[in-house]
Amino acid sequence: MSKPPCIVWFRHDLRLSDHEALSAAVARGGPVIPVFIWSPDEEGGWSPGAASRWWLHQSLAQLASQLQKRGAQLIIRRGSCLEELRSVAKESGADAVFWSRRYEPAIIERDRRLKEQLTGQGLLAKSFNSALLHEPWTIQNKSGKPFQVFTPFWKHCLTLPAPSEPLPAPEKLSSFPKALKSLSLAALELEPKIHWADGMNTAWEPGENGAGALLQQFCASAFSSYSIGRNRPDQTGTSRLSPHLHFGEISPRQIWHTLRRHAEKNGLSQAEWRGSQYLAELGWREFAHHLLFHFPHTPTHPLRAEFERFPWRDNPALLKAWQRGRTGYPLVDAGMHELWMTGWMHNRVRMVVASFLIKDLLIPWQIGSEWFWDTLVDSDLASNTLGWQWTAGCGADAAPFFRIFNPISQGEKFDPDGDYVRHWIPRLASLPTKWIHQPWMAPADVLRSAGVVIGKNYPAPIVDHGQARQTALKAFAEIKGGKLSP
Ligand code: FAD
Repeated sequence: MSKPPCIVWFRHDLRLSDHEALSAAVARGGPVIPVFIWSPDEEGGWSPGAASRWWLHQSLAQLASQLQKRGAQLIIRRGSCLEELRSVAKESGADAVFWSRRYEPAIIERDRRLKEQLTGQGLLAKSFNSALLHEPWTIQNKSGKPFQVFTPFWKHCLTLPAPSEPLPAPEKLSSFPKALKSLSLAALELEPKIHWADGMNTAWEPGENGAGALLQQFCASAFSSYSIGRNRPDQTGTSRLSPHLHFGEISPRQIWHTLRRHAEKNGLSQAEWRGSQYLAELGWREFAHHLLFHFPHTPTHPLRAEFERFPWRDNPALLKAWQRGRTGYPLVDAGMHELWMTGWMHNRVRMVVASFLIKDLLIPWQIGSEWFWDTLVDSDLASNTLGWQWTAGCGADAAPFFRIFNPISQGEKFDPDGDYVRHWIPRLASLPTKWIHQPWMAPADVLRSAGVVIGKNYPAPIVDHGQARQTALKAFAEIKGGKLSP
């Protein structure tokens, strides 16, 4: 007797290799029915932003094509996940639904209910790990509590056994013989209606192949100099794998083993590559998921409760200037332009622009986090929350509030020739390096010959950084009860 089909419900795991749910479905021996369900209303208020939707569209197209090559059609649905899974199971006679876990609070809750209901109806409902090296509930400190400081967290993780070798992609999928109801990808309307995605089209190759190519490129050209290169927005010193990781087009364990092989080939000891800065960054990603799992209120509320009392300001004009990259501080503006054009921003610059919004403009970190959510192709509830709370000083293991990034000296240090600024703000391209990070200070004749008119074709600084810093420190002292502890 032929085996019943198994549904594989794709979510943030848009790949075929190292996919435990898919491999387990194939191992059952019956047809495999890959399904994607667009259900923005079930994301707990964090449905993918515009840039992420663009990415999702491209990534689903890639996934559908890879599935097709192996003999299966991606079934696309829209609406309630439970209802659509039930409906596909009914149409096909599938007796099982497999999926990869996600860790956002609303999704955990939805999936728990859904699993109960599917099981109650006699279906085998099973979830697998696909996105993390370690499940958050397996990592605890000596007192049995979640870690809130990164270094001991990551040290502990590194004492655990190495992740198992990644699974190969199935060569062939046994397809379901009848056509099942499916929407076209275009019907989900994920792509923008107006043309603003050209920069993203040029910058990225969404999908599993694009992820693999970037990883190979990173190993060959940037891994060995990563600890220095990672701080330089004017160079390609990082892997740019964040959107691929977010959408699960590559798994951390694939990265781990690719790096291990690369390191071994290049004579690095196990201690050297395990202790590498790059692996530690993957550790920050794990830490972010771990924190979101244990502190599910943090996307909207500070982990340190005293920050609820912070005297934030409401200033739509300043917010708009920040969003549009018109603050008059070239590093901040360049970052916001990079974000707008490509859906991504270098980590160093993310810290600088976030610090500027929170501490120079005193605008709540949640407002910045929402803007990033809409504009980043890698927007990820765990990492975005960690990044904003870290910069604001109100999260776990965060930078202290009084660490206020100076956009001028950060530029001089990490974009020393001004190449990053010149690339993203062509208007400033002819300014000599000496003035590139503070054009308003340049002598009139220098500005004239560079074609820059401050306040006309490039903004004057919207705040004075020195004064803004003092105001921010006073505001911080208020929530500390007047004490400004170092
Ligand atoms: P690499 O330097 O090559 O690092 C490799 C991988 O490690 C990254 O792809 C990422 O998955 C992970 N990683 C690196 N740094 C961090 C970090 N600080 N926290 C968590 N994971 C990290 N990252 C996101 O993936 N999504 C977000 O929405 C996001 N929002 C952020 C918001 C702010 C305010 C800040 C300061 C940081 C944010 N980050 C976010 C973290 C970081 O900026 C990006 O992960 C990184 O810039 C991605 O580039 P990359 O892939 O070249 O990183």
